[in-house]
Amino acid sequence: MTIELSQAIQALAPSATMAMGNAAAELRAAGQSVIDFSMGEPDFDTPAHIQQAALTALREGQTHYTPAAGIMKLRAAVADAYTQAHGIPCEASQVVISCGAKHALHNAFTVLLNDGDEVLIPAPYWVSYAEQVKLARATPVIVSTKESENFKLSAEQLDAACTNKTRLLVLCSPSNPTGTVYAREQLTAIAEVVQRRKLTVISDEIYEYLVYPGHEFHSFATVAPGLEDQTVIVNGVSKSFAMTGWRIGWTIAPKNVSAGIAKLQSQETSNPSSISQFAALAAIEGSKDCVKDMVAEFTRRKDYVAERLNALPNVSHGEMGGAFYAFFNVRNYFGKSFRGQTVKNSQDFCLELLRQQNVATVSGAAFGADGFVRASFAASMENLREGYDRLARFLASAE
Ligand code: PMP
Ligand code: GLU
Repeated sequence: MTIELSQAIQALAPSATMAMGNAAAELRAAGQSVIDFSMGEPDFDTPAHIQQAALTALREGQTHYTPAAGIMKLRAAVADAYTQAHGIPCEASQVVISCGAKHALHNAFTVLLNDGDEVLIPAPYWVSYAEQVKLARATPVIVSTKESENFKLSAEQLDAACTNKTRLLVLCSPSNPTGTVYAREQLTAIAEVVQRRKLTVISDEIYEYLVYPGHEFHSFATVAPGLEDQTVIVNGVSKSFAMTGWRIGWTIAPKNVSAGIAKLQSQETSNPSSISQFAALAAIEGSKDCVKDMVAEFTRRKDYVAERLNALPNVSHGEMGGAFYAFFNVRNYFGKSFRGQTVKNSQDFCLELLRQQNVATVSGAAFGADGFVRASFAASMENLREGYDRLARFLASAE
């Protein structure tokens, strides 16, 4: 007898970013020289003072359950840091600490959505949003944005996509996968529609600190008075502090929403790792010099990648304002043959690039934008050089 899986799990797509990362790791384990631009994770080690805080916590016996919503010191530190950075009063009770931002998003969808509610997701979107919405029995409604508009959702597009079932809008700035950073006035225009239509916004701000010269981060809740009552912010330490494996993220939400999320965690996961929480506390309270250093290095890599992309024939790319992804248009290569293999779409393109040149990327189709390829530049300069040499060779082989 085969045990049958639930319909929800049968319908769930696996994470394309994780799948490509695993495929690259398997090839590497088999002895291939793979250049991995698939997963979005900093290649730096977690800064020493954060590691030290974890060791201290371990030695001091912080190895027990904590409150399900996280230790009060960390919740308070997140709230204080938010108030200081963005000027909006925020209390510890509005913060729930979760197992990474992915878990924080899942919590928010679970707590806010009912069967059949519609959730607006601007495309290109991060792979997990639509799948998590479906898990919460709601309906993802994809709103496509244009490359020529730097993949920004306009207030008009938002207004036109709303129905009487629309409950949530998901925003991600700086964006994974496009690197787009919304300007304040663009967010304000979106906020006008959000307030008029009484929507709730899930604002994924995980790339808050990873913003490059010429761009500025704005937390969505701050762009219009009262917007904090309609916003759930998702953030965490994974990207900014090179702490992907520690699994600490959080939501900042109105108090009733936070209480709902805390209740959910009390039944579902209990607290995220106690040791990781103390490490995250050190990250938030400690010096931000480590973040500055990482951003400076990412800026150097972004400039290098932009230069390499500009030199590739028939490839276009948007502005890389934040996060650590290049998102480039390879549609001109569809229908061409690469060593006898015809590439019809972005999935074929990424597969052949991996097979023929051992470069791992993620297809735009996984982000709701076939025609594009995402390549993380959270990789060493040496790997970037080699990876873009290989990409150039791959494109040159097109017939
Ligand atoms: N949101 C976005 C936009 C991301 O790119 C990621 C990357 N993992 C996450 C959320 C989840 O972050 P975490 O690793 O903290 O779960
Ligand atoms: N968020 C990263 C990415 O988009 C890590 C993988 C994941 O969490 O899906 O590649």
